[in-house]
Amino acid sequence: MIWIDLRDRYGYTQLALERSQTSAELLKKVEALGKEWVIQIHGKVIQREAPNPKLPTGEIEVQVQSLSHISRSKLPPFLIEDETDGGEELRMNYRYLDLRRPRLQQHLQLRHQVVQAFRSYLDKCNFLEIETPMLIRSTPEGARDFLVPSRLQKGSAYALPQSPQLLKQLLMVSGMDRYYQLARCFRDEDLRSDRQPEFTQLDAEMSFLRQEDILSLFEEATRHVFQVVKGISLPTFQRISYEDCCEKYGTDKPDLRMDLALHPFKELVTGRGFDLFDHAEGVLGMVIPGGATYTRKQIQKLEDLLSSKFEDKKRLIWVRFKEDGPRSSVDKFYPPEVLRSWGERVKLNTGDLLILAGGDPPQTRHMFSFLRQHILEEKYPLLSKDFAPLWVLDFPLFYESEGRLQSTHHPFTRPREEDIKTLSNPKRLKSQAYDLVINGIEIGGGSLRIHEHDVQREVLKILGFSAQEQKKHFGFFLRALEYGAPPHGGIALGIDRLCALLGGQRFIKDFIAFPKNTAGKDLSLESPDQIPQKTWETYGLHRPPSRSPHAKL
Ligand code: ASP
Repeated sequence: MIWIDLRDRYGYTQLALERSQTSAELLKKVEALGKEWVIQIHGKVIQREAPNPKLPTGEIEVQVQSLSHISRSKLPPFLIEDETDGGEELRMNYRYLDLRRPRLQQHLQLRHQVVQAFRSYLDKCNFLEIETPMLIRSTPEGARDFLVPSRLQKGSAYALPQSPQLLKQLLMVSGMDRYYQLARCFRDEDLRSDRQPEFTQLDAEMSFLRQEDILSLFEEATRHVFQVVKGISLPTFQRISYEDCCEKYGTDKPDLRMDLALHPFKELVTGRGFDLFDHAEGVLGMVIPGGATYTRKQIQKLEDLLSSKFEDKKRLIWVRFKEDGPRSSVDKFYPPEVLRSWGERVKLNTGDLLILAGGDPPQTRHMFSFLRQHILEEKYPLLSKDFAPLWVLDFPLFYESEGRLQSTHHPFTRPREEDIKTLSNPKRLKSQAYDLVINGIEIGGGSLRIHEHDVQREVLKILGFSAQEQKKHFGFFLRALEYGAPPHGGIALGIDRLCALLGGQRFIKDFIAFPKNTAGKDLSLESPDQIPQKTWETYGLHRPPSRSPHAKL
């Protein structure tokens, strides 16, 4: 017998030929075949004698009657299989071959399903899909712009949208009422595994709404997508304010698959002669459910991990709550009844572990947040079916950086209604903004917007824009707010991140057909490309001095 694996988008199909019953001509064609050739066959689908339960097509095979070669292939530079022998760079050079691998085919199919599920849901809710231009002017989302120099207006440049923020707000002024778009966004930032210079957002905006309307609509939309694509029913979306979130979890993007909340312990641990805690500005504790089985070695490992990540050495104090009572690494200072009262305070169960650490409060919180994430990652494999969605609410409107106030979301975010009239004490102002976080990943965010011309001007002023600068940068938008802008608000969800989450993978690039590497290069297209002097001149530009040929991008 001769067996051939025929692969297409839908999987593998086994072809079979019995040598003795195959014509010499057909045999010649079969023997000439190489890996990755494109062929056409005619044959009969039959039941396999030895089915392969691991394959969806494992019960059948095709008895080949005729075969023709459609397209030959060179020997591919790596194995076109999920477990490939090709390194990252090689596969990126030949992305079209990499995409033939079944896993990547599934990832792109998943992406299609996610997008279709959103589209059909939003269409049912009366949203209009409207495209906005790519060649625009800068919209401040807090990153650097990609610029496209204009040939016709020499010295001017378009900016690629960091998001269609102002355009979607203009659409609300146009009375479009409910808009969405799968928007490509461009941000010229340093790249990380969960960031690409261009990425896709499901971008939406609605008029005449309350915050609650957006939260519940997009909660349902997300629920619908998880159900349709993966058959997963998401649990209730939790809600927490930004302030409580940072206090309780040390981060505004907590993974809540396990609660692992932080508890203040300073007043409980001070005054018993334990210097470390007596001198610490703050002491925090975290309960690890079922963690009493942690050995000293395991705790030591956590300490080592912290020391490798944070500058000063961190000492963790532990209390194990076992059947026969609590035991701690500081028994000398804290007798069992004290330890028991700590346990009661944090509603701890027998079998749990309490970990304490002291130090500068923000840094200790940050350290615990890192520890939480580490413990969660150890507990949950990536392909976990558990999801813990969370809305983080009431973000501060501004934060201070380099002596200036900056917008936490963007300058068009609406303050709370009670503050809108006065906008006094800007540092304390809260916004009507929200983030959607699932399993510690920020999936998206949005806000209600300022629709009053004077309030928008005031907020820009607080951000340091003089009247003249406001006119220069935002004149077109401020003018629109003078023509009857409806109350409105919206959200944007990161499609690449959502797909990676649903596909149980860490890297978003596996869900993007042609991603860029961490140097911002697309190796399969060899972009960006050097531009000849003449072309620069067409745009009225000079070619910057070229990099050394040895400089590695
Ligand atoms: N434009 C915002 C962003 O890209 C989302 C929004 O406020 O709707 O994050």
